[in-house]
Amino acid sequence: MNIAGPPLNLHRAAGHPAPLIDPFARAITYLRVSVTDRCDFRCVYCMSEHMSFLPKADLLSLEELDRLCSAFVAKGVRKLRLTGGEPLVRRGMMTLFASLSRHLKSGALDELTLTTNGSQLAKYAAELKGHGVERVNVSLDTLDPDKFRAITRWGDLAQVMAGIDAAQAAGLKVKINAVALKGVNEDELAGIVAWAHGRGMDITIIEVMPLGDVGDDRLGQYLPLSMVRSRLAERFTLDDIDHQSGGPARYVRVKETGGRLGFITPMTHNFCESCNRVRITCTGTLYMCLGQEDAADLRAPLRASEGNDLLNAAIDEAITRKPKGHDFVIDRRQKRPALSRHMSVTGG
Ligand code: SAM
Ligand code: SF4
Repeated sequence: MNIAGPPLNLHRAAGHPAPLIDPFARAITYLRVSVTDRCDFRCVYCMSEHMSFLPKADLLSLEELDRLCSAFVAKGVRKLRLTGGEPLVRRGMMTLFASLSRHLKSGALDELTLTTNGSQLAKYAAELKGHGVERVNVSLDTLDPDKFRAITRWGDLAQVMAGIDAAQAAGLKVKINAVALKGVNEDELAGIVAWAHGRGMDITIIEVMPLGDVGDDRLGQYLPLSMVRSRLAERFTLDDIDHQSGGPARYVRVKETGGRLGFITPMTHNFCESCNRVRITCTGTLYMCLGQEDAADLRAPLRASEGNDLLNAAIDEAITRKPKGHDFVIDRRQKRPALSRHMSVTGG
């Protein structure tokens, strides 16, 4: 069965283009786009304190991002997630959302969404909703203002809380993403789950991944979600549910709260067989797998001509290279990341 999207015959019956199919018969229906490598936070697991960012000229312009996303939509992508870096710190983002919303109106796209640290949500929540965004993922690892400052280095918890309030007031459905960090928020996770569910928000707990050199000891941050789950099970009844996103999360229903809780365990579980997604960086590099280095440059074909023939050919060729699975490993001797790029490059 194809769990990555509607069955192929349904796509055609509804007048949708046939989806991109990779060599392992997975339909590519979900595109995640990092629109900037910059951020107003410096989360300890994601960035080093002193990051050097890309020169602006290397970034795709908003028009180029629109063209690229639209090319994928024309090839059957049904869900688009903008991420970063922090997507809402890039100037002109509302113009891009406004423009991409035409694909929602035409029915070509099922969902336009974003992952954000929430710092700018108070400002943009209503506008996002106006552009057809229905759901947002907000990353939040602690409810303690001091810890929040320590984890994000630059962030202000009150500002993020105001953003979450604004999002809910605007009618956006909010899902919380929390990274589990050994010795930092492990005691707090049950409380965060209860808080999120109390506000009607789903929550996903993410195992820290070895991406990018953040100048810290990875093994110090790593907390296996198997341990998180058994601790949560001391307080809550966790019932496995069948909810499938085509992504790495596995879900349970928390009996006491009625809310949904996801676990993303990229290093200890294999979720690749249902993978329906590819990722593009803010410079137009297409990664066919979050856990592999192989990539395709889409910026050159995008800039080489006004028409999309070269771009389409480059996308088709890249999808033939989508690997069967990933290979995350923390090198325990070297304590080096398995992959040298930061999460802020591919957007998670
Ligand atoms: N700035 C936005 C945010 O924080 O939501 C979007 C980009 S951020 C890179 C996307 C997600 O990746 C966040 O939920 C963040 O917590 C997560 N993340 C970043 N680095 C990570 C790492 N090394 N391991 C696991 N998750 C990570
Ligand atoms: Fe910025 Fe998001 Fe990375 Fe934190 S996780 S530094 S908010 S991009």
